[in-house]
Amino acid sequence: MSRVFAIVLAGGSGTRMHSEIPKQYMDLQGDPVILHSIRAFAGKVDQAILVAKEHEWDYLNRFVVPRAGVPVTLADAGRERYDSVLSGLEKLKRFDALDTDLILIHDGARPLVTGEIIERCIEDAKEHGACAAAMPVKDTIKVASASGYAVETPDRSTLWQIQTPQAFRIGLIKESYKRMKEDPSFKAGMLNITDDAMVVENFSSVRVKLTMGSYENMKITTPEDIEIARFFIDKVK
Ligand code: C5P
Repeated sequence: MSRVFAIVLAGGSGTRMHSEIPKQYMDLQGDPVILHSIRAFAGKVDQAILVAKEHEWDYLNRFVVPRAGVPVTLADAGRERYDSVLSGLEKLKRFDALDTDLILIHDGARPLVTGEIIERCIEDAKEHGACAAAMPVKDTIKVASASGYAVETPDRSTLWQIQTPQAFRIGLIKESYKRMKEDPSFKAGMLNITDDAMVVENFSSVRVKLTMGSYENMKITTPEDIEIARFFIDKVK
């Protein structure tokens, strides 16, 4: 029986929120966004690693960790999202995680993730080694030039919007990140790493399965998103 771990990321500064409070700590029905995000993993994983800036640990230890419903260890956030993921992966050593165990990596800014989505990701990671929650796009997507002109319209039926959780066999995600760090284009700062699935896509031969997420599993990025999340939460939870 493999064990299942979760890394929940709360290390962003939320500059797009134009707010004093980072998005992951904003109030959603009486609880901070991050508490909703981490509590979704209760009963689904053996251990959670919450990645946040060290000066926020005191707050987290008082108001989030005791109410998470799952054992939580804190890890220090890094400059970029992938630095925070690497910091979380580093913490796995403390729990003697095996390469065959599973890790779910989740944006703390997605509080509307459900137990069903988490379970689907665990099943797909067991079967395929790597998966990402995703939904078919509803809008037409265009590739734009730097000056803001449409240059291409990819076939919409092939496009999916990618969410988290993304789940992996631990050995696979660690090896993929290791290869990424050794890669010349990464070292030259030419790779824009926005999720973990793309690290596996680019630096392993394993194909990432797309697992059905939900349109409600949105990421809180801009001020209007928190209003939308407040509207959705009664439907989802
Ligand atoms: O910036 P973005 O919206 O892609 O961030 C996704 C998630 O990653 C958020 O939950 C954010 O808190 C987290 N993050 C992090 N460390 C960073 C940057 C982002 O944990 N350095």
